[in-house]
Amino acid sequence: MSRLFALSVAGLAGFLAWSQLPPPEPLKLLPVMDGVHVLEGAGGNVAVVTTDEGTILIDDKFAPNVPQIYEAAKKLSGKPIRYLLNTHHHGDHTGGNAGLAAREPMEILAHANARANMIKGAMPGVPRVSYRDSITISLGGVELQAIHLGRGHTNGDAVVYFPQKRLVHLGDLFAVAGPFVDYANGGSGIEWVATLDKVLALDFDRVIPGHGPISSKADLKAYRDKVDAMVRRMTELKRSGKSKEEALKAFDPASLGWEPGRMLNRTLPPLYDEVGR
Ligand SMILES: [Zn+2]
Repeated sequence: MSRLFALSVAGLAGFLAWSQLPPPEPLKLLPVMDGVHVLEGAGGNVAVVTTDEGTILIDDKFAPNVPQIYEAAKKLSGKPIRYLLNTHHHGDHTGGNAGLAAREPMEILAHANARANMIKGAMPGVPRVSYRDSITISLGGVELQAIHLGRGHTNGDAVVYFPQKRLVHLGDLFAVAGPFVDYANGGSGIEWVATLDKVLALDFDRVIPGHGPISSKADLKAYRDKVDAMVRRMTELKRSGKSKEEALKAFDPASLGWEPGRMLNRTLPPLYDEVGR
């Protein structure tokens, strides 16, 4: 059998496996303000920012969502997608990187730690451009600043700030259903609060969270207070001499308005280790 034939059979098998996946759920396209839309649905919220000189995407869900994201962006504006920013490295925010970049040339950017986390995790679509403190993009009269204000959800979270639009996209620094601290990738419950305080010092009105509905600055302040309450409560439990098991039993996530669930279950045990040292 020729090598070419063997390769094409392998390629066909791959194609069949791919084509047998159920099609992804339709995404919801929501207007935020002039020139800004959000794609809601599977994975993290995608912001589509259109300008006369091209489109900017913030985050890109999972690989199977690439056709939906690409077509939605093209329907909003016939202009090329020029920049794609990842708020952090997680696969529900970067899964479309490789597929989108294969469709047309675009620059993908992420914080240096997010880029390093992607390389560590052998994730596809690693951004070529990274930054430590901040980077500014000016396109078609729209200015965007991607700013790293400290640790929180991970060690590579970006705050994407549009000063003229008084808008921020926060990735999973703001996940409305409740926070997940990814300790394996440098996240910190204690520092999360300080990071959100720096976000709140910026001048903006609207917030696109990583997951959940488009929110206000007041909503973000309320979320910051709940993260702070979570850290304080766990610190009190630990300082009162409770073992980790006792502290987890005594901690009531519902008192913060968060559903006890998978993300909090993964956050509270290592939070006990982080606090009250
Ligand atoms: Zn995440």
